Amino acid sequence: MKPAAFDFHRAASLDDALILLAEHPHAKPLAGGQSLIPAMNFRLARPEALVDLNAVRELVGIRATAGGGLLIGAMTRHATVERSADVQRLAPLLAEAMPHVAHPQIRNRGTLGGSLAHADPSAELPAVALALNATFVVRSRARERRVDAVDFFTGLFVTALDPGELLIAVEIPPRAVRSGHSFLEVARRHGDFALAGVAAELSLDADGRIASARVGLLSVGDRPVLASSTAVLVGREATPAIFASVADAVREEVDPPSDIHADARYRRHLAGVLTQRALAIAAQRALTNPHTP
Ligand SMILES: Cc1cc2nc3c(=O)[nH]c(=O)nc-3n(C[C@H](O)[C@H](O)[C@H](O)COP(=O)(O)OP(=O)(O)OC[C@H]3O[C@@H](n4cnc5c(N)ncnc54)[C@H](O)[C@@H]3O)c2cc1C
Repeated sequence: MKPAAFDFHRAASLDDALILLAEHPHAKPLAGGQSLIPAMNFRLARPEALVDLNAVRELVGIRATAGGGLLIGAMTRHATVERSADVQRLAPLLAEAMPHVAHPQIRNRGTLGGSLAHADPSAELPAVALALNATFVVRSRARERRVDAVDFFTGLFVTALDPGELLIAVEIPPRAVRSGHSFLEVARRHGDFALAGVAAELSLDADGRIASARVGLLSVGDRPVLASSTAVLVGREATPAIFASVADAVREEVDPPSDIHADARYRRHLAGVLTQRALAIAAQRALTNPHTP
């Protein structure tokens, strides 16, 4: 199918994009177009206008920050994130998740910001952003604000972005010492949207006890889910038994949908199994190959 008629504005700079969005309140930003254009072709989306961000250089790039974190521009392509040595070093969870996002052709066009702003509950990167405790930098013509990942995803394909606001960058905080990570998902074919997936980031204290543990889940609700059941891990030893009990709690915590791909019961089961495995792998990595900032 073809999209409904729309106006097209090509922004030359970030200021230009923000002015265009302020002048055209019903316009949608166009990033890689890998979700928006299919939605328009199926007429699931009918924006009056598009503001094309593809020439906005200020939104592209990956920078290691002074404290050992990362700042990634919203228009940075998935493929660039996937191949970045800084991402592999400072946010290996993001690097590990990236090959699961669609196929290489789509990763060549799709952007980090586009995937997060799209807020598909089955997408990998929103769950990773939750596990990494990322902060989203959001700007409109009038103001700039920062939104924690946990407050950004507010519903099915809905975010905390107001009309006229752009996601401009994602900040990933420095990793703790003795950190480990794991990204696991189950998809019928590699590159398909997953039936369920888990992103885990865990750190150990000097005595080998768990200092922090964050688990983001995908495809188990109307939005990406940050598991609250991992709170009990802090101060505990990283044992198979404790991970099994957290996995049981996560299974109860999520409220997955049933659809033609999988029913809620199976997704709930996957959420538990993948959480248990991901936590065990992350803990093992924290022990044997600890992150050194
Ligand atoms: C066949 C196929 C398979 C796919 N499989 C997967 C998969 O397995 N996992 C997965 O996660 N994704 C998958 N995708 C989606 C893909 O990853 C997209 O790249 C991503 O969802 C959207 O990124 P984009 O840059 O293309 O955004 P666009 O499609 O350009 O935009 C998406 C939405 O975000 C808004 N937007 C974009 N950028 C900004 C911004 N900076 N600020 C505010 N709003 C913005 C747009 O207005 C639009 O509403 C798949 C896509 C296809 C076509």
